[in-house]
Amino acid sequence: MDSGEGAVRGVFTCELCELSSPYTFYGQKPPNTRGIVLLEECYGMRDPFSPEKEKFLVLGSKCCLCNKIVCVGTECSLFYTKRFCLPCVREHLHQFPEQIQTELAKKKPTQKS
Ligand SMILES: [Zn+2]
Ligand SMILES: [Zn+2]
Repeated sequence: MDSGEGAVRGVFTCELCELSSPYTFYGQKPPNTRGIVLLEECYGMRDPFSPEKEKFLVLGSKCCLCNKIVCVGTECSLFYTKRFCLPCVREHLHQFPEQIQTELAKKKPTQKS
């Protein structure tokens, strides 16, 4: 059975900031779009503020290291060839390019060391 356009499939919840929102698709191809393939499997929903069917919002995705579900907010994750949650980025910071290290240094640490 077709799940239908814009049908809510569940609720996405970020495991770090607890942001939650219903999502209407999970995967690399948002429905009602042609030729759009996302760089990662992610949770998304049709943009409720846009009349265009092809507009969609990416809510979040899974960290490729720890599999935590995280939102795309810059406080929670970053995308560098794959999705990483910030705690994992900090743990493996030396493996990321200098630009990302500098970006992260500007942010407040999420935990005391
Ligand atoms: Zn979050
Ligand atoms: Zn992680």
